[in-house]
Amino acid sequence: MTILWLGEAQSTDIDAVGGKGASLGELTEAGLPVPPGFVVTADTYRTFLQTAGIETELFEEILATDAADDEAIAEAARAARELIRETPVPESVREDIIGAYRELGAQTADDEGGEPFVAVRSSATAEDLPDASFAGQHETFLNVTEADLIDRISECWASLFAERAVHYRTNQGFDHATVDIAVVVQQMVEAEKSGVLFTRHPSSGDRQMIVESAWGLGEAVVSGAVSPDHYVINPDTATVVESTITDKKQQMSKDPETGETALEAVPEEQRTARVLSDEEIELLVEIGQTVESHYGEPQDVEWAILDGELYMLQSRPITTISDNATEPPSQPAINGGHSKEESTQAVETESDDEDGDVLVRGVSASPGTGSGAARIVRKLDHLDQVTEGDIIVSKMTMPDMVPAMKRAAAIVTDEGGMTSHASIVSREMGVPAVVGTRNATKVLEDGQLVTVDGEMGLVRAGGPTEPDEPAIQPDPVESVRPQTPVKPMTATEVKVNLSIPEAAERAAATGADGVGLLRIEHMVISLGKTPEQYIADHGKNAYIEELVDGIRTVAEAFYPRPVRARTLDAPTDEFRDLEGGSNEPHEHNPMLGYRGVRRSLDKPEPFRCELAAFKRLFDVGYDNVELMLPLVNDAEDVERAREHMEAVGIDPEKARWGVMVETPASALLIEEIAAAGIDFVSFGTNDLTQYTLAVDRNNEFVVDRFDELHPGVLALLESTIESCRELGVDTSICGQAASKSAMVKFLVEEGVSSISANIDAVRDVQHEVKRVEQKLLLDSIR
Ligand code: PEP
Ligand code: MG
Repeated sequence: MTILWLGEAQSTDIDAVGGKGASLGELTEAGLPVPPGFVVTADTYRTFLQTAGIETELFEEILATDAADDEAIAEAARAARELIRETPVPESVREDIIGAYRELGAQTADDEGGEPFVAVRSSATAEDLPDASFAGQHETFLNVTEADLIDRISECWASLFAERAVHYRTNQGFDHATVDIAVVVQQMVEAEKSGVLFTRHPSSGDRQMIVESAWGLGEAVVSGAVSPDHYVINPDTATVVESTITDKKQQMSKDPETGETALEAVPEEQRTARVLSDEEIELLVEIGQTVESHYGEPQDVEWAILDGELYMLQSRPITTISDNATEPPSQPAINGGHSKEESTQAVETESDDEDGDVLVRGVSASPGTGSGAARIVRKLDHLDQVTEGDIIVSKMTMPDMVPAMKRAAAIVTDEGGMTSHASIVSREMGVPAVVGTRNATKVLEDGQLVTVDGEMGLVRAGGPTEPDEPAIQPDPVESVRPQTPVKPMTATEVKVNLSIPEAAERAAATGADGVGLLRIEHMVISLGKTPEQYIADHGKNAYIEELVDGIRTVAEAFYPRPVRARTLDAPTDEFRDLEGGSNEPHEHNPMLGYRGVRRSLDKPEPFRCELAAFKRLFDVGYDNVELMLPLVNDAEDVERAREHMEAVGIDPEKARWGVMVETPASALLIEEIAAAGIDFVSFGTNDLTQYTLAVDRNNEFVVDRFDELHPGVLALLESTIESCRELGVDTSICGQAASKSAMVKFLVEEGVSSISANIDAVRDVQHEVKRVEQKLLLDSIR
């Protein structure tokens, strides 16, 4: 049977229709309002392989690789996907699928009678097994029509051979030939409103329904692009007990011309309007009760509303309700509360361990507390084993760790300090982190229940000490939104640092005056390949487009506030684990080595691509994007970089561009550097401190010597600000020290133009700047 209609497919048919197909089938059977559709069964995938005669080539030739050879695995995965995509689907299968699609069209025809748009989603038969969860890697396509349907289904089949999945199966000794995939083809609901519904409070399990809603398609809520309205509902009376109505600037909708989904601005009058009416809330409560009693346990439901009709798109059990949950806290505790002054305590200086349950100590890198099972992650592919709520324990953060970090309750590393990549990214994501423990990967055991105290820099044995500690993370956007509606007005601008474009909305919600540093390293590292390798495999244009996408996401979220994006500055050790990383030079101290503008000037091809990405953004009107060069030493570095800018068509007289001051040489030679035509400098105090004091910022053995407030560092800052003021060049700080009140005070008094802090510190910095500015004013008139 090529296809099964959703009503015919039940949860017991998981082998035929996969996890997603089975669950949608079961909901349809139960009479719940699921958009109609059908499943291209796992058998059809098998038939395709057999009829096309590609099984031997696929399983015995292409995928018969050596488990120890990462590059061979990556190549095998690529070749397997290509073979599937390029092998024609047998005519009989094609006919069955197109026939079902047309029948679906007849069932769902609207007044205009146009072709139906469908969602095409992979539904892997192994997807929901705990040890083989590659859900995120399987393809989903929205707004598909007949012309592309078969190709999209082939692409879903091909996604069974995503690189990490092939890696995992090869390493675990699983037979690739035994894994199947089904594909769900379902009517698209052009939602006017959509969101999620928790049939119980997701942390306490209390009898309260929680609904989140926004305008347009649900992808905007699920992906975090929009901060949705939030309602707490009494299910007995179907009344709203508490509601928070947000400013919903964007919505996801379908372009009627191209059929593509895109973010667009919400009409002004709808932005702050409440999305759901009381009747719609009642409808949701009714559906919530039906689905919960059908499954016999609390559910997390994705829903959509179109023309007053409510549709259920997905339902899963809520897994975050803790066993000992009692009453819900009156206010969700903010995990990741703000430390007043981020400490850089040395590893040994703590002495509060009388209770003896402290297992390891390190540097408090990102505040908040998280409990869960420790997952010792030694290799990239082990990241798949990190499940929701686990604690990642690794030597150092690894490339491509962000997806796993999103699932993790906290992060603990052996190496690193406050300004290491691990710390920067975890702070940005709001995940508690302790770094530089020296021995966490040895002392902690895989699966051991631990509690990470990001504030104190400790890892304790066991779960949370508070019995009613909530198991969920708070809304990351809400946790940074200023509590007072009025943002402190300051003459010195207060901006925010960013590395992950997905955090742009969260960063913008701080009310910052722009982005003072957008690091692109993370965008590059998450491609899984070194820039050189990526360009060799996919071409320059693909690399440029990746960068354009990442930077544009941030430029869009902040427009018209300025976004200062920096060209690449990743030390070679951060590239080592990536594909192509074996070609990186081995350096004694990568921090002193081949990174920043020196690498860019030495290897201009990737650098030119980065510059071309800026050029494309300028050309399409992102006049809020600024370009910044890292780790320059002197005017020659800057002039050579300027020549490359001109070569790709950037006019340095028109674009706003500048340099990081992060070596003593650049601070001492600032007048010559300024003569190259820069508009601004930004102090990278992470590097400026390490190079002034000869303290490797990644070395946990000297972490207590890393002092950005050292008089030597301050002297360089002071003289640079003074020169720049005379030359009319703006000054800023974007190193970690911008979050320290003593540094803020020093710089504002010296006359810095802007301060760019971490997301979690922006609010405090705004207040601190205001306080210092007011004191300066008062002092001047006293
Ligand atoms: C710095 O050096 O202070 C800085 C902001 O750059 P990075 O941390 O990326 O080296
Ligand atoms: Mg730096």
